[in-house]
Amino acid sequence: MSNQHVVVIFPHPDDESFGASGTISKFRDEGVPVTYLCGTLGEMGRNMGNPVFANRESLSSFRKKELAEAAKQLDIEVEYLGYRDKTLEFEPIDPMAEYLKEKIVSLEATTVITHYPGYAVHPDHDALGAAVVEAVSRIDEKHRPEVWMHAISNNHEDDLGQPEIVHDIEPFWERKLAAIKAHLSQADGMMSLIQSQDQQSEQLERLKTERFYQYKF
Ligand SMILES: [Zn+2]
Repeated sequence: MSNQHVVVIFPHPDDESFGASGTISKFRDEGVPVTYLCGTLGEMGRNMGNPVFANRESLSSFRKKELAEAAKQLDIEVEYLGYRDKTLEFEPIDPMAEYLKEKIVSLEATTVITHYPGYAVHPDHDALGAAVVEAVSRIDEKHRPEVWMHAISNNHEDDLGQPEIVHDIEPFWERKLAAIKAHLSQADGMMSLIQSQDQQSEQLERLKTERFYQYKF
């Protein structure tokens, strides 16, 4: 299909790099435009850099710059949805779904990538994923994009089985690393894991394959 547009919707600056940057790179190499709709500025994040360089006041401006750098590495557009970090679970789903629906329709998304509600380990991830599914279900079938959902929790395969979409992202590994590294205030733990070259590490292996469940409407 020639008129594709992939829209990635996660709540935090860095979710796109950890969860989907290999898949994003694959689409970009195929000439498909990708837009990241980022839910919040990640201003409540616990990590302030190592050594610490941010504080509660300045964290959001650092995270904005970090996401801009990651977006440059991945060659994608970024738009912020304007929600507050760590509050998405308290947002009523109906207006959130309407707002997301408007965005998804105006971008003419053909594929939407989000978190798998209930299997995404963070209340913001679960809440935004649920709102995205609700938003897309409100779009007329003829214009409805596919929804690919990223599950994170350890036990998700026991419940959900194997995902439909599995991307070996080895060919895009350097780009994924560059995108993760761009998130300076957040990526320290992951970068030391990667630099330790511990190839047995399950966490590292999980980064090298990106898997998504396709929502069935
Ligand atoms: Zn997140």
